[in-house]
Amino acid sequence: MEMIKIKNLIHEYIRRDEEENVVDIKRAVDDISIDVKPGEFVAILGHNGSGKSTLAKHINALLYPGEGTVWVNGMDTSAEENLWKVRESAGMVFQNPDNQIIGSVVEEDVGFGPENMGVPTEEIWQRVEESLKAVGMWQYRKKSPNRLSGGQKQRVAIAGVVAMHPKCIILDEATAMLDPSGRKEVLRAVRALNMVEEVTIIHITHYMEEVIYADKVFVMDQGKVVMEGTPKEIFSQVEKLQKLRLDVPQVTLLAHELKKAGVPIEDGILTIDELMEQLDKRK
Ligand code: ADP
Ligand code: MG
Repeated sequence: MEMIKIKNLIHEYIRRDEEENVVDIKRAVDDISIDVKPGEFVAILGHNGSGKSTLAKHINALLYPGEGTVWVNGMDTSAEENLWKVRESAGMVFQNPDNQIIGSVVEEDVGFGPENMGVPTEEIWQRVEESLKAVGMWQYRKKSPNRLSGGQKQRVAIAGVVAMHPKCIILDEATAMLDPSGRKEVLRAVRALNMVEEVTIIHITHYMEEVIYADKVFVMDQGKVVMEGTPKEIFSQVEKLQKLRLDVPQVTLLAHELKKAGVPIEDGILTIDELMEQLDKRK
């Protein structure tokens, strides 16, 4: 069974005036069908307004399909009786760390989720410990979240989600407000959850260097999935990405330019090591 299955999803935001007349319809998700398998690390790219957040909110049952169906771990998100189970299965981490942390002490904050789920007290503490250790924040458990860096706060927010034992975590530009070292910290934590705990990851990001670890990449434009493939397949199409107003990793761009200039290199180079290897072969 797929972890996430989305079939012909359409979502429109409808704006009405005081008399309830429709004044504007914005189709934010336009007939998307995608599957994500358990344990996959999926990246979603797309410039602002392409519909990424709208899509993500359907996986967490924050929005319901206008048309089409979304299944999370086999559960139809539009069925009311599935709501809490869907939200337990798929936890979401948002862009701004300051809006997600409510506790005045790190360990309390991480315990809120399982507490609300009715997890017995002893098990809550066990989960808080596991989760904080999983994101490398255990030594900060007694600290006030206010005193942490952006990357540390996001790791606490991720621990809060992890403590609810989700099968899937959706990060909606969770690294966008962080500095480069904060982004690295968060990505390291997320990759560890994916590789060690086999948590399915949906990572929405603008940063191409975060995409190279993904098993699968979806590129969105105007509410549609316009490209789908491995990072290598996606980054082999430099011109197409540029047309979609997306950045391309610098080393990929360099390799692409070298190739255009006549140097025989493969497409879709993602790391400096790969590029060096290709150039060495030509010696
Ligand atoms: P992204 O996350 O890729 O930036 P969004 O899903 O936030 O894209 O937005 C997709 C489109 O839907 C945009 O045109 C945006 O303006 C519109 N939109 C998003 N949220 C709302 C809303 N609450 N009401 C009306 N339009 C919205
Ligand atoms: Mg968004």
